[in-house]
Amino acid sequence: MGKVAYRCVECNEKASELHRDYSNGILKITICESCQKPVDKYIEYDPVIILIDALLCKTQAFRHILFNTSLDIHWKLCVFCLLCEAYLRWSSLHGSKQSSDPADIIRYTKEWEFYGMFGLAALELSAFCCGVLWFLWMVVGRLQGRTVELRLLLRALLLSCYGKVLFIPAVIWENDYSPLCLGFIKLFVLTSNSQAIRVILNSSRRLSLTAVCVGLLSETCMAQAVTRLPWSIQDMLTFD
Ligand SMILES: [Zn+2]
Repeated sequence: MGKVAYRCVECNEKASELHRDYSNGILKITICESCQKPVDKYIEYDPVIILIDALLCKTQAFRHILFNTSLDIHWKLCVFCLLCEAYLRWSSLHGSKQSSDPADIIRYTKEWEFYGMFGLAALELSAFCCGVLWFLWMVVGRLQGRTVELRLLLRALLLSCYGKVLFIPAVIWENDYSPLCLGFIKLFVLTSNSQAIRVILNSSRRLSLTAVCVGLLSETCMAQAVTRLPWSIQDMLTFD
């Protein structure tokens, strides 16, 4: 599989295998030498249980996903989440002038605004990731002298943005609580991001929260820059 080291989901200790395959068809889960618990109990679990534990931001579930699986969907997931976010922004642009005329729907699909919103969401996500990675590289890599695997961190950040998928139901089932729902979704995504950083670096909660705040600041600056610059892309897009 090309995987060198797994991690114990309980204590983060490195392990060479998750289970041992005895030739007579018996599989035995490896026990961690450090904490004497199964290295990865999740290999026996149903994916739904793993997803629920990940939704609850359990450290063990995050370690299982980020270290012990070769889940390689982060770029696809990132594009899908950006599409969800673009749809949310685009639909809020048109929220006041909805029409049930089919011709209008067809015209809407041709609109460049949607792609523009996708571009803006991508720009803001890039700013967020760059802010987080820069901060961690400076603090953990430079000040603490530890190796920071930026590739692993980026994968963890992108995977932990999966909560943005919830933007779609929040827009579809639009109600009076929508701004509150969107706020909760954003908070959930940031909590997941923070937990992912904490798991990858095995760091304190304070460090991962600070990194997320730096990322959020960078994202906000980018959003402000895009709306305020004289050649504002957003003005060109929302030109009526
Ligand atoms: Zn252990």
